[in-house]
Amino acid sequence: MQALIIADIHSNLEAFQAVLQDAESCGGFQEIWCLGDMVGYGPDPGLCADLLRRYEHYCVAGNHDWASVGKLNLAEFNPVAAAANRWTAQQLSADQTQYLSDLPLRLEREGFTLVHGSPVEPLWEYLLSPSSARASFQHFQTRCCLVGHSHIPFMCHQVEGRCAFLEFPKRAFVKLGEQRLIINPGAVGQPRDGDPRASYAVYDSEPDAIAHYRVEYDIAATQEKMRRHGLPESLVERLSYGR
Ligand code: ZN
Repeated sequence: MQALIIADIHSNLEAFQAVLQDAESCGGFQEIWCLGDMVGYGPDPGLCADLLRRYEHYCVAGNHDWASVGKLNLAEFNPVAAAANRWTAQQLSADQTQYLSDLPLRLEREGFTLVHGSPVEPLWEYLLSPSSARASFQHFQTRCCLVGHSHIPFMCHQVEGRCAFLEFPKRAFVKLGEQRLIINPGAVGQPRDGDPRASYAVYDSEPDAIAHYRVEYDIAATQEKMRRHGLPESLVERLSYGR
């Protein structure tokens, strides 16, 4: 079984389509595991939600998903993100709104726990420090936990109580073995690690390994739509730099 692992699509249809095509050409997948923030920031919230739903998929809620359907207070967001969420709310059909609103905070699949932020605080926590990783390792029972939210790809392991963040090597399968890991596949639709290409991962149950991929997409096409819809210019520009 191969699973395509994605996070933080953020209404970026061009990036999402590029990821699907690239994953198909690298051996394909049977199901998608989505770590939330399907919407918010970008120009195509409804189309991204509809495209994901065409596949066999398991998806958890992100803070932007629930903000866009009125389940979180927009005052919790910075003004630019709140403006994009307000615009997103107006674009969603009743059916898409219901779908996002019904997303669970946590799922387990094939020995992986899926959450958006962290297993301690699934909607809001940015899991980026050894101390937050240490707390997180105590909050899931499966071997591995998959997170998104920070838009930074990484693998994190715990050896004798110490947590270390490792680079998630690209286009090479990493054998999982017995060790417990927390893994972030990076963001599809708004990378923030200085590489503007869409980021994703693939898990292959045979030989029980995971790989990280980056793929180029038509950034200018996404930016043009964002400008046309009057979305905040800072959100448009950051796609060029992956910051
Ligand atoms: Zn996000």
